[in-house]
Amino acid sequence: MSEKIPYKIYLSEDEIPRQWYNVRADMKNKPAPLLNSKTLQPMTHAELSEVFCEELAAQELNETDAYIDIPKEIRDFYKMYRPAPLIRAYCLEEKLGTPAKIYYKFEGNNTSGSHKLNSAIAQAYYAKQQGLVGVTTETGAGQWGTALSMACSYFDLDCKVFMVKVSHDQKPFRREVMRTYGASVTPSPSDTTEVGRKILAEHPGTGGSLGCAISEAVETATNTPGYRYVLGSVLNQVALHQSIIGLETKTALDKYGIKADMIIGCAGGGSNLAGLVAPFVGEMLRQEADYQIVAVEPASCPTLTRGVYAYDYCDTGKVCPLAKMYTLGSGFMPSASHAGGLRYHGMCPTLSQLLADGYMEARSVEQTAVFEAAEIFARVEGILPAPESSHAIRVAIDEAMKCKETGEEKTIVFGLTGTGYFDLMSYKKFNDGVMGDYIPGDDEIAAAIEKLPKVEK
Ligand SMILES: *Cc1c(COP(=O)(O)O)cnc(C)c1O
Repeated sequence: MSEKIPYKIYLSEDEIPRQWYNVRADMKNKPAPLLNSKTLQPMTHAELSEVFCEELAAQELNETDAYIDIPKEIRDFYKMYRPAPLIRAYCLEEKLGTPAKIYYKFEGNNTSGSHKLNSAIAQAYYAKQQGLVGVTTETGAGQWGTALSMACSYFDLDCKVFMVKVSHDQKPFRREVMRTYGASVTPSPSDTTEVGRKILAEHPGTGGSLGCAISEAVETATNTPGYRYVLGSVLNQVALHQSIIGLETKTALDKYGIKADMIIGCAGGGSNLAGLVAPFVGEMLRQEADYQIVAVEPASCPTLTRGVYAYDYCDTGKVCPLAKMYTLGSGFMPSASHAGGLRYHGMCPTLSQLLADGYMEARSVEQTAVFEAAEIFARVEGILPAPESSHAIRVAIDEAMKCKETGEEKTIVFGLTGTGYFDLMSYKKFNDGVMGDYIPGDDEIAAAIEKLPKVEK
């Protein structure tokens, strides 16, 4: 096509997908089922529904329907901030002097500042449909809690957020956004739950962790009538909702006859990446096309590159079902990195299976290199990227620089999951030159992996 590709490829409101794409339907090797942590039997819909909303439990188990309708109410909400633009990074290409063509899908155009709102609104909708009073959740860096509080206020649901204590103290502004949307925010571990009290007794003065906050949120949901627990990543249902990112990206690329060679995304619990790549992996699974897909994670929490693919607990308190996933062990305590949203020991089961089957590759990058990439990007593209998203930027830039050497005109697409306005303390460390890189030792990882539950399969 000779038509010049615009800086921003916007779609019309009508082009917002009407269905999510469930990549599991096209996978020959399905992700392994969640197991009941006591009986080690696959979780049934009834068991899952004690913790999750019924419809979400059904989506979690659904591996046969390739397409699932997006209810009108959710689609109407999407219209307020979607379709998200696919942007041609002409300015970055010029700055790098690369023949590569770089595109990014920007998900930061909403108050929560990230892609997490895509799933938050769906989860809140199903909770409301079921007649629930409210939901509980955990949040690490605060993006998920913010997104969920927005979604809950829209549907008039109560929202109880357990926020990892270090973030609670370091990111007071995130907390205020959540409170403005009506959520209650409790620093975790707290003395409001049994598991929180136990963790506090064992580790007085701990700053908490995502795994611990999950345990507290689940306990509160199961002990409070009319409440269920919702999760912002890792689960297959969340990956399903995030497929809207990939579907829009594909529509935008197809509109201009662009074929991606490489698709890059950052991976914390795996939801944005799973969503971004879903329709493309679907083509690979159906042998219609081929892509190079790259997951990028922090070297400080190297789940995909140094973890094992095995059943593990999803939370510290071991109250959640077991999931088969790439994991560093639920006892692994990632160092305090500045990409809070990528500090989780496990990974989405769907994404884990796709990696195990060779449909994607994983790379890890160090924190200072990530911020260097963030700075290059921010200075030419006019968006201050989230540290999490900047992991994808790092690899996109590295690949574009390789193209500069080889002269290859590769088409690179990456997911820009959010903005970095709440991460300015991290940018300050980087600007002051006092940011470090922490890479866990083999012994540290081995010690956590040794404690994995013993499950045959
Ligand atoms: C939470 C978050 C991530 C990581 O979560 P995934 O589930 O792996 O997508 C990445 N980027 C931003 C901006 C986030 O808020």
